[in-house]
Formats: sequence, structure tokens, C-alpha cells
Amino acid sequence: MSEHEGEREYPHHHDGPCDIEQRVKSLENLLIEKGLVDAAAMDELVDTYENRVGPRNGAQVVARAWTDPQYKQRLLADATSAIREMGYAGRQGEHMRVVENTEQVHNMVVCTLCSCYPWPVLGLPPTWYKASSYRARAVRKPHVALAEFGVILGRDVEVRVWDSTAEIRYLVLPKRPRGSENLSAEQLARLVTRDCMIGVALAMPVADLK
Ligand code: FE
Repeated sequence: MSEHEGEREYPHHHDGPCDIEQRVKSLENLLIEKGLVDAAAMDELVDTYENRVGPRNGAQVVARAWTDPQYKQRLLADATSAIREMGYAGRQGEHMRVVENTEQVHNMVVCTLCSCYPWPVLGLPPTWYKASSYRARAVRKPHVALAEFGVILGRDVEVRVWDSTAEIRYLVLPKRPRGSENLSAEQLARLVTRDCMIGVALAMPVADLK
């Protein structure tokens, strides 16, 4: 089943978190009891998405592209391989494309159908990314959507909106902030937020680095 087929609008039940936690736990116990899933495999999966996969991976990719022109070239030519080269691969990252922000072009990513998102470099998508309001506005009025996120672009900047699908996932390569020339790779990576890799923010200004 593809991801698109899997996402439907269900009626909302107003369960508290405790109720949901209990249900998940019961379901998990039942699956383990019946031998349908392995407890260790499940722990491994949860640990992966909670602790090892997330925007910090994407930030490493961006920081390297900012400092290593040859890597950047490889990244823009074949993102899947260049990202795998850094050890980030797996589900929902099989077909990656990186789009670069410049003085003239600003890129932003949406999934108009559901919530396709590059898990290996960004982790799981934020709630707003899945909201129909973002999905619609990003396409119809990208400048307005960006302004709502606090990104005000000049009229001469072209906004390109990329529709992530089950076939291809996009990552934005943000502009390297001014004054970041002398920062270490580790400091540079800290300027790279999740939102700037979706394209709804700019990389953090150097002055905000703690
Ligand atoms: Fe999708």
C-alpha cells in the first residue's frame, strides 16, 4: 500500500493522551503475544526515529555542502547518493533531490496529497506540514504562506514550490548566513533548522547562535 492510499480523513475521536497510550500499549502487547512482531525490533524502530533520525542529519548534510564545494556539486547532481555517503539512508529517503536557495530563487517543499517527507534527513514531519491549510496555501499563495512563517522575500525573488511525493522527496539547501565564514562545521550545523530545510524559514542568523 502506498503512503497516499494509506492516508484518509477519519472522524476525530476525542481521546485523552492516556487513553491513546493505553490503547497503543495494549495493541503492542497483543502483537507481541501473538508473535506478529518482535519486541526488540519494535524498540529498535522507535529508538531510530526518536533518537537517531531527525533534522540534525539534514543539518550535517547542509553544513557540509556549505563548506565543501565538491560535495555540494554531488549533492545537487545526485542527492540520494550524496546523502547516503554521509550515512543517512532508508525508508522515505530512497529518491532524494536537493534544491538550492540563491539570491534569486527561494525553494519550499510541500506534499499536496498527504505528508511525504524525507525521513532519513528530517525525521518525522511536523503537524502543520500535514495540515490542509499549509498544503493548499503553499501552492496557491507561496509568498503569503512564507510570510506567515516570518519569511519576507523581495518581489524579485522567485519562489519555487516542490511537491514531495512517494516517488521523490525534496530537501532545501538554504543560503549560508552572512558572517558564518569562520564558524566550525559543528557551529554551522546548529544554524540549520528543520524549517529552513523545508524552505519555510531561512538559516539562523549567526548572532542567534548560543
Ligand atoms: Fe504525500
